Amino acid sequence: MELMFICPVENRDFLTSRWDIAGSLSVISDHQGKKKLGGRMEVFCPYCRETHFFKPEEIPCPLELFK
Ligand SMILES: [Zn+2]
Repeated sequence: MELMFICPVENRDFLTSRWDIAGSLSVISDHQGKKKLGGRMEVFCPYCRETHFFKPEEIPCPLELFK
C-alpha cells in the first residue's frame, strides 16, 4: 500500500510503498478521548536514499493502516 510521507530533510512529499512498522503500532486514547496511533514507522526516502522514522500521527491518514 502506498502512503504519503514528507521528507524532513528536503521538506518534500513522496508516495512510497517502501515503509514498515518499527516495532508495533497501537491505538491509544488521549485525555480527551481522541484516538490516535502510537508507534513508529520506518520509511525509505527516495530523495535522501536513506531511512527516516515517522510517528503515525505525522502522516496524512494514519488510520488507513488498519484497512
Ligand atoms: Zn529524506
